[in-house]
Amino acid sequence: MKGYDVIVVGAGPAGATAARHCARGGLKTLLLEKDQIPRYKPCAGGVTRAAANELDFAIPESIIERRCRGIRVALGKLKNSIKCTETLSYMVTRSNFDEYLVEKAAEAGTAVHDGQACIAVSSHPQRIIVHTDTEDYQSNIVIGADGFHGRVLRALRPGFDKEEIRFCVIAEIPMSESEISRLLDDIVEIHYGYIDMGYAWLFPKREYISAGIGGRLIKAKTLIQRLRSYLRSHGLRDDVRVRGCFLPISRFRHNVYAERLMLTGDAAGFVDSFSGEGIRWAILSGKIAARTAIRCHEKNRFSADEFKEYQDQCFSNFGADLLRSAKLADRLFGHPWILLKTALINDRILKMHLKTITGEISFREYADWVRIRFPLFFIKRFFSPKKENTSKPTHCSLL
Ligand SMILES: Cc1cc2nc3c(=O)[nH]c(=O)nc-3n(C[C@H](O)[C@H](O)[C@H](O)COP(=O)(O)OP(=O)(O)OC[C@H]3O[C@@H](n4cnc5c(N)ncnc54)[C@H](O)[C@@H]3O)c2cc1C
Repeated sequence: MKGYDVIVVGAGPAGATAARHCARGGLKTLLLEKDQIPRYKPCAGGVTRAAANELDFAIPESIIERRCRGIRVALGKLKNSIKCTETLSYMVTRSNFDEYLVEKAAEAGTAVHDGQACIAVSSHPQRIIVHTDTEDYQSNIVIGADGFHGRVLRALRPGFDKEEIRFCVIAEIPMSESEISRLLDDIVEIHYGYIDMGYAWLFPKREYISAGIGGRLIKAKTLIQRLRSYLRSHGLRDDVRVRGCFLPISRFRHNVYAERLMLTGDAAGFVDSFSGEGIRWAILSGKIAARTAIRCHEKNRFSADEFKEYQDQCFSNFGADLLRSAKLADRLFGHPWILLKTALINDRILKMHLKTITGEISFREYADWVRIRFPLFFIKRFFSPKKENTSKPTHCSLL
């Protein structure tokens, strides 16, 4: 049986990043991916500037399909938009982006086995074994980066709790570059009210628009009908293939480690409840997992206690932020026509929200800022001139 220092299961942003950093740290690393790379990944493909800043290399221009500089938000007929001078996020197609991250992992010395699925993980006193559909491998550490349906999570618990699960439907609408520029240009549209605890979106790419709806679990058929009606309301074709997928939102009630084992990215449920952003936390948790793996090898210790530090570091780095964001999301989504509406028509709140996308402020800072000022903004709403259905965006700089 072939042996490695670390086996990373799943070659998305979490796995590719963890593998790259393990290999760079001198560990003999294997990255396993069940699909052939490049593989399709249902995702709106918005890599926030904060996420891109977590990479130790620039995303190549050939992979960046558009630079997003603004946001249009809507709730029913109410609309507001804000446009910045700075880039907020990079629009990518996930198959290309993820393939590039895997190339960077391979460049650092990772052995990449694609088209090979992990079917189970078994722990033994001196090693951990990854069983795949073709071969078994042994290792000191396994990093689970195999997403929502991952097998490594099943070594810890049966899966995600029902309240941790969001459901999305997503479609790609082929269009010419000029049509996309006319409809969205370099802004994304987020439309609330189509689903509980979520939203519908339009994200512009080079030759298609990513459209979808995601939120609390409901019947797939109902959600597909809502997506088609959302597309028609924008004059977009609705005869496109629609795919369904799940998104895990951790409430940090379960451990994401065990002896010789760590979970990263979606496999750990590291996704923001309000925006659905997950790539940033996948990259970050991948890096923290790699640092932990390197430290364990230096000490030659692989007990569960050693890996608890991974969980603690994830929590202090970004977990507490995600929890705060989830609490804010619960409040806003719980009273959309009172609280969410107040937030959407307020340019100052939107501008602060954009600062979380660029990483200038943390979600905690944002939530504290909103909490203190919200009562005033709420009252002001009734006295200031109505700022609704504004077709022209407010221009601003985040500096
Ligand atoms: C509809 C939708 C839209 C989204 N839009 C955005 C967005 O715009 N911006 C953003 O930041 N986030 C977005 N997200 C979230 C984001 O896609 C995820 O958080 C992110 O992909 C997590 O990365 P990951 O590496 O943990 O997992 P993944 O990217 O899911 O990668 C997991 C990998 O593991 C592989 N795998 C699974 N099982 C096995 C197995 N048994 N053996 C081997 N390999 C396996 C899979 O094939 C896959 O390649 C979106 C999610 C959804 C569902």
